[in-house]
Amino acid sequence: MIQENLEAVEKIVRASCRRAGRPENDVTLIAVSKTKPLEQVREAYEAGARDFGENKVQDLLDRIEAMPSDIRWHMIGHLQRNKVKYIVGKVAMIHSVDSLRLAEEISRESVKRQVETDILLEVNVAGEESKFGVSVEETAALAEEISKLPAVHVRGLMTIAPFVENAEENRQYFRKLKQLSVDIESKSIDNVNMTVLSMGMTGDYSVAIEEGATYVRVGTGIFGEREPWH
Ligand SMILES: *Cc1c(COP(=O)(O)O)cnc(C)c1O
Repeated sequence: MIQENLEAVEKIVRASCRRAGRPENDVTLIAVSKTKPLEQVREAYEAGARDFGENKVQDLLDRIEAMPSDIRWHMIGHLQRNKVKYIVGKVAMIHSVDSLRLAEEISRESVKRQVETDILLEVNVAGEESKFGVSVEETAALAEEISKLPAVHVRGLMTIAPFVENAEENRQYFRKLKQLSVDIESKSIDNVNMTVLSMGMTGDYSVAIEEGATYVRVGTGIFGEREPWH
């Protein structure tokens, strides 16, 4: 089932790229395997998935240990500063940086371990109370501050759009994040680029791609429904 799901999602990703007049390899599909049994993560790997997203540090570590080493692991969940030391050097990218203090910790650990860490700034585009992320207004200033830190590199922006019935309702937020990335790119900040736009989940990745997503994070569409509290 996972293989069929994965192929179906990949097909929609390619079709969305074509619709948007973008090359089909512009978008990386991240398989969000959080809460799912390792067996299913393996199935997705066997079916060809190489980018996986997890939102908890312990799960991430367990899976990195258990799975082949050619996987690019993405930390997509809220990250506490005291847990940074466990994942630096092990993940391809941290998508959820929303404060200077967190970036400083990532920088410190990266220097200590002599690795370079790519990060995205998580933006709360819709301004939802319940969500982590910096506001649209604060993002450029945060990028400038982080740009001065060693061994940490801002590669773009990430957002978790509101949960909506109709994906079209989120188009405005995806467009806003894209515009923000263009604005920040135009500032030509040293050590900051806006190559990555991580936006779009199962319900809305097609719209996100039309609006410029380069990473889409799909869980349910590949692995099926999760328990409702995750
Ligand atoms: C769970 C999660 C996803 C995947 O959500 P689906 O709706 O199941 O595709 C994507 N991004 C983040 C940050 C998540 O926590």
